[in-house]
Amino acid sequence: MDFRLNEEHEALRQSVRDFAREVVAPVIAEHYEQHTFPYDIVRQMGKMGLFGLPFPEEHGGMGGDYFALCLALEELARVDSSVAITLEAAISLGAMPIYRFGTAEQKERWLPKLVAGEALAGFGLTEPGFGSDAGGTATRAVLDGDEWVINGSKAFITNSGTDITALVTVTAVTGVKPDGSKELSTIIVPSGTPGFTVAPGYSKVGWCASDTHELTFEDCRVPAENLLGERGRGFAQFLQILDEGRIAIAALAVGLAQGCVDESIRYAKERQAFGRPIGNFQAIQFKIADMELRAHTARLAYYDAAARMLAGEDFKRQAAIAKLYASESAVDNAREATQIHGGYGFMNEFPVARFWRDSKILEIGEGTSEVQRMIIARDLGL
Ligand SMILES: Cc1cc2nc3c(=O)[nH]c(=O)nc-3n(C[C@H](O)[C@H](O)[C@H](O)COP(=O)(O)OP(=O)(O)OC[C@H]3O[C@@H](n4cnc5c(N)ncnc54)[C@H](O)[C@@H]3O)c2cc1C
Repeated sequence: MDFRLNEEHEALRQSVRDFAREVVAPVIAEHYEQHTFPYDIVRQMGKMGLFGLPFPEEHGGMGGDYFALCLALEELARVDSSVAITLEAAISLGAMPIYRFGTAEQKERWLPKLVAGEALAGFGLTEPGFGSDAGGTATRAVLDGDEWVINGSKAFITNSGTDITALVTVTAVTGVKPDGSKELSTIIVPSGTPGFTVAPGYSKVGWCASDTHELTFEDCRVPAENLLGERGRGFAQFLQILDEGRIAIAALAVGLAQGCVDESIRYAKERQAFGRPIGNFQAIQFKIADMELRAHTARLAYYDAAARMLAGEDFKRQAAIAKLYASESAVDNAREATQIHGGYGFMNEFPVARFWRDSKILEIGEGTSEVQRMIIARDLGL
C-alpha cells in the first residue's frame, strides 16, 4: 500500500497548482463578483489538456486516469471552486456519458471538441420537481417517426448555457417497463435545437463564476440516433456517472478544505491581537490542526475510492464515504477559516469568504449528504 504520488501525477499536481495560483487567483474574485464565466481560464485549461485528462489519446485526450482528474480538481479548488466545478462537470457529467455510452458516430462528432475544452456539455437529470428521487423524472420523450419529441424541464444544470455549450444530455421517460415502472433513457440535445430554451443564469449563493441554468423543452425534436446508448438504460447510466462523479466532488471538496488551511495559516501568522500573532494562541492552533486533520483524512478517503475504481473493484460505498466526509469537512473548514479571519472573513475580498459561500453546495450537489448516508447504509445491508 503506497499513497505517495508517482512522478507523472506529482508533475500534474504541481503544474495545476502553479496554474491555479498564477492564472486563476489574480482574476477569479472579479468574475465571482460580476457573476461572469471565466472563458479565458477555460481556454487555457483546454490548452493544458485538463479537459482531456481521463480520456484516451484516440479521442484527443491525455491518456491519463480518473485519479489524475481528481488531483487537478483538488489543486484548482484549493484556489477557486467555480473553476474546479466547471472542469468537473465538463468531464464527469458532460463528456464522460458520451465516452462511456455513446456510439462511434456520437463519440466522433462530440468528443474532440469536449476533450479539447473548446466545447462544453451539460448533464440534465435534476428537474424543478425532484432531485434526490431521480426516479421521479417527469420529462418525456416520444418517438415520432425518426425523431424524439421532448417535453419537460430540467433544473440547476451546470455548463448548460455558456457561449461554448454544444449540447446537453437529458434523461427522459421514454415508456413503461413490463413491471409498470418508468422506462428512462438519455438523449443528446444539441444547443440551439428549436424548442430547447435556456433560462437566464440563477442568482446563486456560491460558485458564482460557474454556469447554471434551468432548461425547458417544448416539442423539442432531435433525430432518433441522438439516443445515448440503449433505450431504457437511463437509470443505470446516471447511477454509474454519479458514482464516479462523487470521487471527483470529494477531491474538489478536499481542495477547498485545504485552501482553508492555507489561508488560515497565512492569516494567523500576520494578524496581531494582544501583542502577538493570533497563530500563537493555542485556540487558533487547534482550529488549524483540526482543519488539517479533516483535509488529510478526506484526501485518503478519495484516494482509496479512486484506487478501487481504477482497479475495477466495487467502489460505491467508498465513493459515498469520500464525498460525504470531504464535503462535510469542507463546510467545517470554511466555517473555521472564516472565524480565524474575524470580521475580514465576512468580506468578499478575502478568499475564505468565497470558500465559505462555495462550501455548502458540496453537501447538496451530485447527491446530498442524506443520500450518501442512504447509499452507505444500503451497502451495509440495511
Ligand atoms: C449549483 C448547482 C449545480 C447543479 N448541477 C447539476 C447538474 O449539472 N445536473 C443535474 O442533473 N443536477 C444538478 N444539480 C442538482 C443537484 O444535484 C440537486 O440539487 C441535488 O441532487 C438535490 O436535489 P434537490 O435539490 O431536488 O433536493 P431534494 O431531493 O428535494 O431534497 C431536499 C432535502 O430532502 C432530503 N431528502 C430527500 N430524500 C430523502 C430521503 N429519502 N431521506 C432523507 N432525506 C431525504 C435531501 O437530502 C435534502 O436535504 C445542481 C445543483 C446546484 C445547486
